[in-house]
Amino acid sequence: MKIICIGRNYADHAKELGSSVPAEPVFFLKPTTACLYPGQPIVLPPIAGEIEHELELVVMIDSYAKDVPVNMALGLVASFTLGLDLTARTLQNELKAKGLPWEKAKAWDGSAVLGEVELPMTASTDLQAFSIELKKNGQTVQLDTTAHMIFPVAELIAYVSRFITLEPGDLLFTGTPAGVGPIVGGDVLEGFLNGKRLLNATVAKG
Ligand code: MG
Repeated sequence: MKIICIGRNYADHAKELGSSVPAEPVFFLKPTTACLYPGQPIVLPPIAGEIEHELELVVMIDSYAKDVPVNMALGLVASFTLGLDLTARTLQNELKAKGLPWEKAKAWDGSAVLGEVELPMTASTDLQAFSIELKKNGQTVQLDTTAHMIFPVAELIAYVSRFITLEPGDLLFTGTPAGVGPIVGGDVLEGFLNGKRLLNATVAKG
């Protein structure tokens, strides 16, 4: 099992970070030790600078697959939820400026927060028609629709599978919309998909 994360998949988010809109999907990996399961508090890492939330639609893959055509890609998705791709932003910006890999800023323990409610893929599920919303301490900070993804989920799966074999249990974080921002001890983060709360996590006080 592995965690594959897509970067810059909403134009407004790429813009807020001062990044260009990619011509092809950008992806990176987190190790399984990054998973933070429901009920566990978010523990901020020993990394200087801002730690930011990125709310993302997360899909679970349930088969082995390589070189999947786009028109068959959604057949690999068993279920979906919301997740937080927590990011040590200050450090990531330093790494980016030096042309270094992002893992130190992205792959730390507990940096992949998973929703407590997982919804099954059905014949009528349209992954590109969800509203996605993050509330921090009751205030909406991220709100968008998955229709605004630059690369829809099927294209992401097909693209990644050209390079990496997908395996049952893999998680694909599909990128965050605009509105990312810092978290601090005591913050309560709630993720909503079409108004239904799927994710609820609290940041531990240091
Ligand atoms: Mg992200």
